[in-house]
Amino acid sequence: MKTFDVEAFRKHFPILTQQIEQHNLVYFDNAATMQKPLSVIEAERQFYLTTNANVHRGAHTLSSMATSLFELARVKVQKFINASSAKEIIWTKGTTESINLIAQAWGSEFLSPGDEIVLSYAEHHANIVPWQAIAKQKGAKIKWLVLDEAGRIDRAKLTQVIGNKTKIVCCSHLSNVVGKFNPVEYLIKCAKEVGALTLVDGAQAVAHTQVDVQKLGCDFYVFSAHKLYGPTGVGVLYGRQSLLEQVSPYQFGGEMIKTVSVNETTYNELPFKFEAGTPNIAGCIAFAQAIEFVSQHQQKSLYQYKQQLTRYCYQQLAAISAVRFVVKEIPDIPLISFYLDNAHQQDVAAALDAKGIAIRAGHHCAMPLMSYLDLSGCLRISLSAYNTIAEIDYLIDCLKMLMTEPAEQSNIASNSAPEE
Ligand code: PMP
Repeated sequence: MKTFDVEAFRKHFPILTQQIEQHNLVYFDNAATMQKPLSVIEAERQFYLTTNANVHRGAHTLSSMATSLFELARVKVQKFINASSAKEIIWTKGTTESINLIAQAWGSEFLSPGDEIVLSYAEHHANIVPWQAIAKQKGAKIKWLVLDEAGRIDRAKLTQVIGNKTKIVCCSHLSNVVGKFNPVEYLIKCAKEVGALTLVDGAQAVAHTQVDVQKLGCDFYVFSAHKLYGPTGVGVLYGRQSLLEQVSPYQFGGEMIKTVSVNETTYNELPFKFEAGTPNIAGCIAFAQAIEFVSQHQQKSLYQYKQQLTRYCYQQLAAISAVRFVVKEIPDIPLISFYLDNAHQQDVAAALDAKGIAIRAGHHCAMPLMSYLDLSGCLRISLSAYNTIAEIDYLIDCLKMLMTEPAEQSNIASNSAPEE
């Protein structure tokens, strides 16, 4: 098998040649957002240079061209996650908006007092707060799935939480802190047994596994383009067509209507019924290019390279005596959460930033998980296929240096408790 050529791969990402504080940028915050390849940047630019017009207003050539690219992008997403129809793909601003759409549009119609919404302790706030809001509006209750030692949703305890009152189970395919795949197939099976719906938050998973929504059998699957080489401000809501047909619109205005009179409005068909107003046309088209980029680089060697990076980074961190991993197993994807004994995480991140290294520190929009793990926050390194072993070596050297330098030199408060 051909080995993965990381140097050639890096050339697609001009931002990686940047200097930060006179150091080469080392970008280890890919779970927050990924860098964009030139072809994606170019697709957005080309749209504005040559095709910019509003969509679904077929009165002129440019609009027809824009519409056809926009709808082709939808079909690209449909194929990417193996949805059975393009009508099942709703464009949103991102994972957060996709979840809000379902929580509000489905929840306000189908939830009743006493119904239960099941979430896990490992959810991102985007998959907690919209449910808390609708639960409050409708008098529904939230129940929590516990985690096993590796930080995955605990399979063995699922049926203690999912029961006859459960109306929907919402969980991440992969947490943004833990980096372990949740047992979503089993979870979906358990939900189906009690007649509950399922929403899978795929924000982290889409970059690391091939998603097949029909095989998974979930009712809703949501993700953001920007975590998969795509632009910000674009997201996807996949929903089973028969289910989406039953749900009323979320927002109201142009695009989502069929007819409007002074007395009454009728709504458009799927998927437009959920897409009020002018969408992020250029962003959606650029996202189709990002999916094209992913399929062009879908070789086994890239996947193995990411695994090699994960193992190497984990082992090098484990060799530092002050490092404490957040969960007990090596992660499934290149996302490693940890903290350092006697070092404040924000100080560590700031000191690394001064060396050109971008990592994330804090609660990672997962405060219930931090409380569950009895942490006030942690550090997170999330890698992509454009990262290198040399970058990891540099990070490890910097961390070791920070741990041995006197506090005032390294800017790490050696006695401060790790808090937010
Ligand atoms: N869920 C998970 C698991 C995430 O990692 C994120 C982004 N960090 C989100 C939801 C929210 O995504 P966005 O901000 O793109 O809407």
